[in-house]
Amino acid sequence: MPKDFLESFPLYKKFYYDFINQSLGLVPKPPIKMYCDICKSNQTFNNTMDYFKLYKRPEDYRANGEVIGLEYICMSCKKFKRYFFIEISEDLNWIRKIGQVPPWDISVDKEIGDLLGKERLEIYQKGLINESQSYGIGAFAYYRRIVEGVIDELLKEISVMIDEKNLVEYNEALKKLKDSHNGEEKIKAVYDLLPLRLIPNGNNPLKILYKVLSEGIHSDSDEECLENAQTIRHILIFLITEVKNHQIGAKQFTAGLKRLGEKNKD
Ligand SMILES: [Zn+2]
Repeated sequence: MPKDFLESFPLYKKFYYDFINQSLGLVPKPPIKMYCDICKSNQTFNNTMDYFKLYKRPEDYRANGEVIGLEYICMSCKKFKRYFFIEISEDLNWIRKIGQVPPWDISVDKEIGDLLGKERLEIYQKGLINESQSYGIGAFAYYRRIVEGVIDELLKEISVMIDEKNLVEYNEALKKLKDSHNGEEKIKAVYDLLPLRLIPNGNNPLKILYKVLSEGIHSDSDEECLENAQTIRHILIFLITEVKNHQIGAKQFTAGLKRLGEKNKD
């Protein structure tokens, strides 16, 4: 079974898989890389046995419509095991997990946790919990909340660049905009604050993310949302990393300018 599917797919999310042969005995069994509770680190796990089912021999297995159990063992400690239960569709078009021990992990890398900050991390993890239960629409709602947070943060940043005489006016306009919950207007307002390399060919990632998430929430099924949830998470983390680096850069730039200005006063 595919490595990426076993390592990162939540329960019930379909993985479209090309069965070259109908016999389960011939499906490849690549090692996977996952966390080991005993070694306390990411380790390589190997499949310990043939795809099994009671009362049948591996070479007899026809894959169609089967539910199979897989056992993986950590190659470092040779003790810690992971189990997966996989359903194979009747038409051999897809596979999906219907069980996993230990359960699909909602813990977040420390690096990503630090990047998100406490409040956003909680929202992010609620998104992951929804994904783990295959509530794609629910996950989308939480991820959209994070996008909105990024937009609000960028709106605040603008005020640093506004002249003092226009600041009152700006703050009033900003307050109105914030209260309006009009995502598209907000995105337009912060467009210039995004690092240029985040906007390849003018495709504003904030706009795309917000649009995909909003459309998903309003008109897609749980399953359709789930399809894109992982990609969205990756883009979201990338976006937040870039925005944060850009903010630090811009702050240093502004501080440098200020110092220069003070020097030239004399
Ligand atoms: Zn181990």
